[in-house]
Amino acid sequence: MENCLFCNIIEGNVPSTKVYEDEHVYAFLDINPINVGHTLVIPKEHCADIHDIPEDTLQHIMSVVKKLSTAIKKSTELDGINISMNNGKAAGQIIFHSHIHIIPRFEKDGFEPWKSKREYKEGEAAKIAERIQEELL
Ligand code: 5GP
Ligand code: ZN
Repeated sequence: MENCLFCNIIEGNVPSTKVYEDEHVYAFLDINPINVGHTLVIPKEHCADIHDIPEDTLQHIMSVVKKLSTAIKKSTELDGINISMNNGKAAGQIIFHSHIHIIPRFEKDGFEPWKSKREYKEGEAAKIAERIQEELL
């Protein structure tokens, strides 16, 4: 896609610090990392979000995410790692070319995802679990 930043990164029209590339996947360092080594893994085919990615492409992306996570762990001596994906504006997605974040974490690095949580009301958990299961049929 012509006006997509990440498509332009794949094409080499916009510079990036590449860490991995194959026929279907491109991985590069996030320009504003949570921590050093924060990597973005993206499909070469333009997809907006999780709902858009073909199943086989996603499976391949996840195997690359695992390989890279191990390499990042060894190279940064991290204490932990977050694998995350923002889908949709409400979920914090800024770039609408789907991507998976590999975020190296260190004890007391100050990054606090999942800050706002809530509790289920009576019957609410069972109700939504049922609804989700209905959609899977
Ligand atoms: P999102 O919130 O959409 O999941 O995250 C987009 C990510 O892309 C952000 O973490 C942001 O720092 C990163 N990003 C935005 N523009 C660029 C860029 O031009 N180059 C690189 N390498 N990363 C970018
Ligand atoms: Zn794109």
